[in-house]
Amino acid sequence: MINRIGFGHDVHQLIEGNSLIIGGVSIPYYKGVRAFSDGDVLYHSIVDAILGSLSIGDIGQYFPSNNNKWKGADSQIFLEHANGLMIKKGYSINNIDSTVILQEPKLRPYTISMRKNIARLLNIDINQISIKATTTDKMGYIGNNEGIAATTIILLSK
Ligand code: ZN
Repeated sequence: MINRIGFGHDVHQLIEGNSLIIGGVSIPYYKGVRAFSDGDVLYHSIVDAILGSLSIGDIGQYFPSNNNKWKGADSQIFLEHANGLMIKKGYSINNIDSTVILQEPKLRPYTISMRKNIARLLNIDINQISIKATTTDKMGYIGNNEGIAATTIILLSK
């Protein structure tokens, strides 16, 4: 068996009045993500983890923000594309472990829905997906509620 590990990290700015979509879940909050696509920081970190595990570049290479095709795009498209590339190479996902880093709001009420979305898109079991949330104890740009980040590690095998 061949195992490959991947890591993804993504950051977006938070501004008032925009929508906040994390893991495909629309979260009611007075701030949202400023981004070219829908700015789903969790999906983006998973995409980069998949691409990284295969050593085939990063999300910006496949979906450049200077291409209007991806303006306001549902990041589900990016995730499905990365998954397709992985399948073409004969790999399957063992597990995904993600952390979303934000000061507010609390994500726990939404993580089950996020895991369900990811399981459906990647055709894996919900138990293969972990989503955690943490704050930065009010320090730095995340603690000041200016931004949001997500990190993901993934293990593939074939
Ligand atoms: Zn992003």
